[in-house]
Amino acid sequence: MDLLEYQGKQLFARHGLRVSSGDAVSTVEEAVEVADRVGYPVVVKAQVLIGGRGKAGGVKLADDAAQAREHASNILGMDIHGHTVRTLWIEHASDIATEYYASVLLDRSAKKPLVMFSVEGGVDIEEVAERTPEKLIRSHVDPLEGLSREQAEQIARDGGADDDVIGGVADALVALYEVWLSEDATLAEINPLIVTPDREVKALDAKVSLDGNALYRHPENQSLSDSENEDPIERRAKQEGVQYVKLDGDIGILGNGAGLVMSTLDVVAQAGGAPANFLDAGGGSDAEKIKQAVSLILANDSVKAVLFNIFGGITRCDEVAKGLIAAFSDIKPTVPFVVRLDGTNDVEGRRLLAEADLPNVHAAHTMNEAAEKVVALAAAQGGQG
Ligand code: GDP
Ligand code: MN
Repeated sequence: MDLLEYQGKQLFARHGLRVSSGDAVSTVEEAVEVADRVGYPVVVKAQVLIGGRGKAGGVKLADDAAQAREHASNILGMDIHGHTVRTLWIEHASDIATEYYASVLLDRSAKKPLVMFSVEGGVDIEEVAERTPEKLIRSHVDPLEGLSREQAEQIARDGGADDDVIGGVADALVALYEVWLSEDATLAEINPLIVTPDREVKALDAKVSLDGNALYRHPENQSLSDSENEDPIERRAKQEGVQYVKLDGDIGILGNGAGLVMSTLDVVAQAGGAPANFLDAGGGSDAEKIKQAVSLILANDSVKAVLFNIFGGITRCDEVAKGLIAAFSDIKPTVPFVVRLDGTNDVEGRRLLAEADLPNVHAAHTMNEAAEKVVALAAAQGGQG
């Protein structure tokens, strides 16, 4: 569960990390009010669950109320890589001497928390990791011991932080580790972690992902999830009890069971296609559930073709066929479907589909054949191919 910058900063502040004071708003008027209150210059920041806001024009400095108004009205409603800006965070602008990078995450292969630090902050950290890996310090933490002040200082020194801020950076790293651990975060990242001209170390940005399965331990964090900034289709899927993850491609994928859906994604990618979603209708899906799933897939406009890959076990293929037929009579999809039904009651399922003679529905017998077909159909629809 990803948090917006300002929500991440609230968690930071709770654990003693320095952040600028500000407020989240959703209208231009409120933005100007907050700017007047925190004092100019202010920074007006788009709150969306995607990085690179600065480059996209979603982070602007304002010296007075007129500029704050102008930036707020430009940024509200702006589309940043497919995310519409509905919320702004306004904070008092900081003077920046240096921009560092810091993060904590779980390194699954080492089975240990990993702290990363770099003096090359503010920029795309993947680029630093690729071009100058020696400038990205990676330090594993003993999960039983936690991150000691000594280890944090060592990380700051190894990374080349300025001498006079080693202590400040170490404090920030220890606090960030504390955020990650005690809030059950999967990622806690600050980019940039700045040093001000008066040598204060401060988090200027926040990227925090919480472990949704641990939310029950944090009732105070529960409200962070029902943000209206969540993808509306993902939110609807959650309400309907369907596993749905939006991806960037143009091929809608529906399967039953997470394992099958993941292999379907792989096979589609191998055939040269780009999945638009991950949709797992789950075991034992009945006709109603399948109908819901079809409607969820089609709610995403970028879908150019749909691959239905069902391996019947508890799920009966005849039920799936009935759901698909019901969906077609209700929703009348305009994009082609490739359907592969295999397993429990597959013969009956295929018979029902053949009988219904749905427009633009293509049968496939194997997963590979289905993948190739759907990629070709998406390309023919002017997709990404
Ligand atoms: P991102 O582009 O989504 O990562 O958004 P950030 O919050 O990291 O902001 C992008 C950039 O805007 C930062 O790297 C800074 O250079 C700049 N920026 C953000 N806040 C301030 C501020 O308070 N003062 C100044 N001078 N620059 C800022
Ligand atoms: Mn950033």
